[in-house]
Formats: sequence, C-alpha cells, structure tokens
Amino acid sequence: MSSTRTTEACGAQERPILLGRSLAELTALVTAAGAPPFRAKQLHHWLYRRGALNFAEMHNLARDFRAWLEAHTEIGHISLATIRESADGTRKLLFRLHDNRTVESVLIRERNWWTLCVSSQVGCAVDCKFCMTGFGGYQRQMTTAEILSQIILAARHANGGEYPRNVVFMGMGEPMLNLDAVLPALRAITDPDGMAIAARRVTVSTAGILPGIERLGEADLGVNIAISLNASNDRTRTEIMPINKVYPLERLLSACRAFPLQRRKRITFEYVLLGGLNDSDSDARALVRLLHGLRCKLNLIPWNPDPHLPFKRPSEDRVRRFQQILLDHHFTVSIRYSKGLDVGGACGQLAGHWAAAQAGA
Ligand code: SAH
Ligand code: SF4
Repeated sequence: MSSTRTTEACGAQERPILLGRSLAELTALVTAAGAPPFRAKQLHHWLYRRGALNFAEMHNLARDFRAWLEAHTEIGHISLATIRESADGTRKLLFRLHDNRTVESVLIRERNWWTLCVSSQVGCAVDCKFCMTGFGGYQRQMTTAEILSQIILAARHANGGEYPRNVVFMGMGEPMLNLDAVLPALRAITDPDGMAIAARRVTVSTAGILPGIERLGEADLGVNIAISLNASNDRTRTEIMPINKVYPLERLLSACRAFPLQRRKRITFEYVLLGGLNDSDSDARALVRLLHGLRCKLNLIPWNPDPHLPFKRPSEDRVRRFQQILLDHHFTVSIRYSKGLDVGGACGQLAGHWAAAQAGA
C-alpha cells in the first residue's frame, strides 16, 4: 500500500493525492465533483507552477471549492525535517515521508544557477559496492507526489520560491527501477504549463537498467540520460556493480547507441574513480576503445569516501592523468569535484535514515 500511495487514508475514506496528476486527470476529478473544468486548470497552475503548499494559498479558487478540496483531497507534500548548509553553499535537505521514512535532496549552487539532485526511491536495491545508498539497502518506491514534492519544498524553503534551473535524478535510488512514478514526475517537471523546467536541463541517471533506458527513450520526453559506467571491462564492473551480470557492458552500450538523442545532445557517462581499482592508464585507454563513436561526454567523479566502505579516493595527479588520456582522444571530459562533502551531501553519500539518526530527527 505505502509503495503505491496515491490516496490518503482519512477516516473510512481514501483521499486522492493531487500532486502528480495531469491536467486531464485533475479535470476528471474536479468535474466529477460538479465543479467546472476551468477549476482544474487553476488547480494545476497552483500545484505545479506556483508550488502551493496548502489550499489556503490558492486564493483565486472559490471558497466552497477550496473547502471541498480540503475535505476530499490532499496535495501530497512530504515534510522537510532539516536543511544542512555546507561551507561551499550546497544545501542538503532531509525529508520525512508519511510513513516516517526519510530521503534526501541536495541543492547545489553552480556558477549562477541551482541544480537540485533528487531521490527516486527510499534506499536502493542495486547494491553498488562503493555507494552509501546501496550499502543501506532498499526500503521502498517513492510516489510521483513524493518525488515532485522534493522540488517544490526545496524551491519554497531553500531557494526563495524559485525552481532550480536543473534537476538531476542522482540522489537516492535507481530511477529506472521506479519509472511508473518517475515518468509522470518528469512530465510534470517539464510541462510548460506545469513546473516548466526545460527538458534539456533534466537528467536521469542510471546504473544501466536496460529495459528502463528503452522505456525512457520511448517516452520521448527530451530529458538527458546519464549512465553510471564506472569501469571499462566486465570483470571490474561486475565486482563493483553486480547489476553488470544482468546487463553487461556490450548490451548496455548498444542500448546507449540506440537511445533517441535530440539534436546536439549527448549521453553522459559517469565514472566514479576508485583508487587502484579502475583508475589506471590502461583503464582510461580501454574506456577510449569502449566509447569509440558514441555521442557522449564523460564525468569523472573521484570517489567520495565513507569509513564503512573499503575503497580509496585516487590522488589528484591520478585523476588528472586519467582525464588527460581521454582528452587526448578528443572526448569531452569534466571532473566532478562533489560539493557538500562536509554535510554528507556529495554523490553516493546520501543515506537518509542515518542522516536522520544523526540529526536526532
Ligand atoms: N542510481 C542512479 C542514480 C543515483 S547514484 C545511478 O547509479 O546512476 C548517482 C551517481 O553517484 C552515480 O553515477 C554513482 O555512480 C555515483 N556514486 C555513488 N556513490 C558514490 C561515491 N561514494 N562517490 C562518488 N560517486 C558516487
Ligand atoms: Fe543505487 Fe545508484 Fe547507489 Fe548503485 S550508485 S547503489 S544504483 S543509488
């Protein structure tokens, strides 16, 4: 029940949750209650464009309609438990869900815009050996409302009401294993009448779940895709990402080649550099061969350490040398020095339940 919650128990009744519903769905709901269809349009505007936190804010709705909404529906916001601000300005938000579970989002300040990194599942079942979310195990799916609420609450409580310019699905969880909730969320995020965040500024990151990559391609939403590659051969990849046994490199890269990219768009490959494990010159050269001919760019992420995990962050020199080999072969390669390390908000550090315990929340 909790994993597919689109209604809220209310006495003997179930109240429909509004966040995540399309205009057509809201229209059906509103007209069934006897209100005119234009009310659905207003409601849609309040939910997504204005990010209303409650019905009282929706002041241009007729009072009796608002009372009806209040009594019979629920917006579906989660609650913000804490915000921790890093010395570099990154803000990590800890959210509490209706069943008391917790997830995190990270608001990252870039040159002159904000990127929000959102969660798509509570925990993660994929079990990558270098990732704290994976280490904590899987708890449950997030609903569309829970996914969207992170963006609205981050805007309202941590960014002066402004939606971030970019949204990346790189927080907790594997979005391709929760596409039933993620796809409607992506539609609301990119809908010009909805949250109106440009599709080209939205990125879904995956450990390489093939059926999900295909389904996202078919949905044709124009969002970007990032693949967590993290190794240049099957042996190493399977060691650190057991999912590679199910979706090995060759099949993964064929799916990438088949992914419908918009004009001038490229697939991003993320590569977490683990000292002594996947960061040698020969790994870099194998990567060059593997990605040959693919329209792509590379993001190197020096591993963010955690004392529970048995890996090493490579030296600065090693990272630069690895990058140089790829640059010499004309790849676009950036090094992502994670922000928010001091508040446990960097890539792979999100593990909501532990953060909650530390915060005493
Ligand atoms: N499940 C998705 C999205 C969340 S993980 C995925 O795996 O792509 C987002 C990114 O963080 C992935 O590229 C992952 O490889 C990276 N990551 C995980 N743990 C990390 C760590 N400790 N240090 C640096 N990057 C890490
Ligand atoms: Fe899950 Fe991504 Fe972490 Fe792997 S890297 S365990 S897929 S969150």
